[in-house]
Amino acid sequence: MRCVVANWKMNLLYADASNFCTEFAKHYTPAEDVRVAIAPPTVLLWTIHSQLRERGITTFAQNGHFEPKGAFTGELSMAQIRDAGCSGVILGHSERRQMFGETNEALVKKVHAAQERKLLPLLCIGETMAEREREQTFSVLQTQLSVLKGASRGPIWVAYEPVWAIGTGRTADTYQIGEAHAFIREELRVILGEQGGSVPILYGGSVAPQNFEQILSVPEVAGGLVGGASLDPMAFAQMVKIAQS
Ligand code: PEP
Repeated sequence: MRCVVANWKMNLLYADASNFCTEFAKHYTPAEDVRVAIAPPTVLLWTIHSQLRERGITTFAQNGHFEPKGAFTGELSMAQIRDAGCSGVILGHSERRQMFGETNEALVKKVHAAQERKLLPLLCIGETMAEREREQTFSVLQTQLSVLKGASRGPIWVAYEPVWAIGTGRTADTYQIGEAHAFIREELRVILGEQGGSVPILYGGSVAPQNFEQILSVPEVAGGLVGGASLDPMAFAQMVKIAQS
């Protein structure tokens, strides 16, 4: 199975999202072996869910809180995310780690809360350029993956996103992707046992129609988490098609 996930971050308005759905639907043919999800800003979740659900497209939230309810102004519970039609939630994106102080400790609770509400956690991990230069890539990935230690046996996806490749137009090369994904696979086996062998590991970081085929050819790459290029319905449909081929 392959997975292609769009992360729209804080982009697009209602009219843009609606146009996206119309255009994307024209160019998209579902295929059984490729799961497609869109993670729009929260206010657009319903727009995407209502317009693309029948085409087999699922929606993910970009973040969620671990508490079930209460006085947490500006936050969304996993139950609310589920209630809005989502089947998954992106957790630990590097922008949340770097700009909003997301910690591995909080992520342990978020993974647990998502699974309790039957939401698929898509855990993002990745090193900064400074960490890569200090040869800490594997230890960073190991620490970030350790949040899965108490996870239940429900579905989990992981995205390897080197921070220096996000939104920079600079992708990791196939060797770098290959060694990171192989390391992640081994760690997942250690942490999750048998299930760790089948958790899809996506690559993210300046994925585009021009480089996606090559990235998908790397062993252990099960798909892509796509930021900027996913805002263009034609480009996103093209990347889905590449994953289907
Ligand atoms: C992302 O936001 O997860 C991402 C990979 O962004 P981009 O594709 O723009 O680098």
